[in-house]
Amino acid sequence: MKLFAQKEAVAFVKTGLKEFRYDREIRLTPGAKDILTEAGIKVVFATGATPPSPTAASAPASTVGAGTSADLKLFNSAESALLKQQICDIGRRIWMREYCDGNGGNISVRVGPDRFIVTPTGVSKGFMTPDMLCMVDGKGNQLAGTWKRSSEFTTHAAIYETVPEAVSVCHAHPCHVGAFAVKGMQPPPRLIPELEVFVGTVAVAEYKTPGTPEIAASIRPLAPQHQSIIMGNHGLICWGKSIEDAYFKMEITDAYCRTVILAQAIPGTSAIPCEGMGDLLALKKKMGLPDDRYGLKPAELCEVDPWQEMCGSHGCSSPVTPWNPMTVDAKKDASNADLEALVQKLTDEIVAKVKV
Ligand SMILES: [Zn+2]
Repeated sequence: MKLFAQKEAVAFVKTGLKEFRYDREIRLTPGAKDILTEAGIKVVFATGATPPSPTAASAPASTVGAGTSADLKLFNSAESALLKQQICDIGRRIWMREYCDGNGGNISVRVGPDRFIVTPTGVSKGFMTPDMLCMVDGKGNQLAGTWKRSSEFTTHAAIYETVPEAVSVCHAHPCHVGAFAVKGMQPPPRLIPELEVFVGTVAVAEYKTPGTPEIAASIRPLAPQHQSIIMGNHGLICWGKSIEDAYFKMEITDAYCRTVILAQAIPGTSAIPCEGMGDLLALKKKMGLPDDRYGLKPAELCEVDPWQEMCGSHGCSSPVTPWNPMTVDAKKDASNADLEALVQKLTDEIVAKVKV
């Protein structure tokens, strides 16, 4: 049990938040309660049986960050307020597009040197409000906010640490990317310009337990070259130059994976030609976007046949015999013919015996 005394109450008042939630794990002293109440803060004891609003349903134990007054000022600034609202808006879009399940997914944004605003743990990303967000340093120490930060922030931190231009990181579990994640497979390249230009090569990181230093270590070496990384048997993590930019990488990657999966049902193959790939990368370079394929010759850009990569030598065009009424009828005819032959054979045998 943690003690929440007058000192902590004074720090809480400075956050500007209007509600203080606590549970059995927090012992709130009478003096601290007075300070909160006198400051006009609503004090709520969460028993755990409280229901049904999406925000209250999973309310965590209240935590007050260990930040300095400068941290609290930054956390409560107008700039941060705008970013918090943007995170909630993107969370809503992630949920609406079914990119997150349950409380899955998390979003963060860089707000200063070694300072990040991040989504809380245990909350649906579709129903967040700005007061639920937290501020942390690059090690994940919570500096401000009453809700506990996402346990997956340490994976975001691995990206911020290795990519100085990364302003925001967005992680979720979109299903079409998930299909590749459970196969540990990279989506084949050279199929749609949108991915080639705005995302680039999608990397695949090996499966590691979520929230551990191991998963952060698996993402760290990939992030400088890849803005969109599939986390093996888990989901997708993307970084961008703004919150919306990071989200766009996710949307483009999932749309690409979805198209590739759908296309497998259609016979035939096609891909962006080598020269076309050269043109796309030249365009991308002009836009100042990173890509690990700059400097490759056109022939090197199309060494991989995407469909062969995806489906092996049959190229996906005939992995399964397509349903065909003619084929079914032909089989039926064949089995009828077999039956007729058998009946005829038995009839002949019986007739022969009768004759004897
Ligand atoms: Zn996850």
